[in-house]
Amino acid sequence: MLFALMGLLELFFGKKFPFKFVYSDEYWMVNIGKHVFPVRKYRLIYERLIALGAKRENFLEPGPALDEDVLRVHSPRYIRRLKAGELSAGEINLLELPYSPDLVKFAWLHAGGTILAAEQALVDGLCLHIGGGFHHAFADHGEGFCVLNDVAVALEKLRHDGRIKTAMIVDCDLHQGNGTAAIFAKKEYAFTFSIHQMDCYPANKPSSTVDVGLWSGEGDDKYLAALRDHFPRLYRQFRPDMVFYLAGSDPLGGDQLGGLTTTKDGLFERDMIVLEGARCLGIPVAVVFAGGYARDIQDSVAVHLNTIKAAQKVARKWAPPPPPTSSPA
Ligand SMILES: [Zn+2]
Repeated sequence: MLFALMGLLELFFGKKFPFKFVYSDEYWMVNIGKHVFPVRKYRLIYERLIALGAKRENFLEPGPALDEDVLRVHSPRYIRRLKAGELSAGEINLLELPYSPDLVKFAWLHAGGTILAAEQALVDGLCLHIGGGFHHAFADHGEGFCVLNDVAVALEKLRHDGRIKTAMIVDCDLHQGNGTAAIFAKKEYAFTFSIHQMDCYPANKPSSTVDVGLWSGEGDDKYLAALRDHFPRLYRQFRPDMVFYLAGSDPLGGDQLGGLTTTKDGLFERDMIVLEGARCLGIPVAVVFAGGYARDIQDSVAVHLNTIKAAQKVARKWAPPPPPTSSPA
């Protein structure tokens, strides 16, 4: 009886989460010591989703990316030395994470997760990876907590498999997507958009297709006006086969690694602009969560959960109507 009632409710209100999440418990088990990068946030988001009623079938568990997929983006020399533990002290400094074989596994698993999320987005229209977004990784080196550029690896894999021809990367992490911009410079099939804070890391910001720079202290008004200046116009002009959305939570005011003053409501609005614009045009979106370093980890988690809320809102609005069902038994 209860199941029949739940079924009816689902029929009226749509599924609670009409898309899948990609998540692995191994994401937060990597030991990086006491570090500003809060790997625990992945687990906290997962736990909140369970508390909100997400079921086992809502989650997909990724495996590590294949080396052949990683090597479409990263140089063989970097990958070989990374796996063999042969990075120099200077390279590890640039990474700003303690090197370990577990860190290598972590990077491969997130890349596999973003591949899976992108593939699933092509099926469902939307998929959220509770991980990924390591946009500071370049083809031949890692930096700023980013070992492998998971979004670039996924984009190139989907192109290689003939699933997409073009893609747009909408990078709303507080930090400029320097690795992504460099990897796709002059590659016309990938449109890279980055909205970021100018006066912070990375000091050197290679040009994305479109860069929007904001300054320390700026918040919702400037941020949202700049975003609305570009979306959904850029979607209509470029018409990508899919969108990768880096929904970083570090533009939130008070972030330890940023100086913007955007609010939780403002970032929810940001998510709606990015997601709704794409879904209105029928463009599939894979979301990755990227950075977020609030003093209280729950603030970063809240911003990421709001992205999921925005995805629910957008998916309900634009999902195709459910197929007719036979009368319940
Ligand atoms: Zn960031």
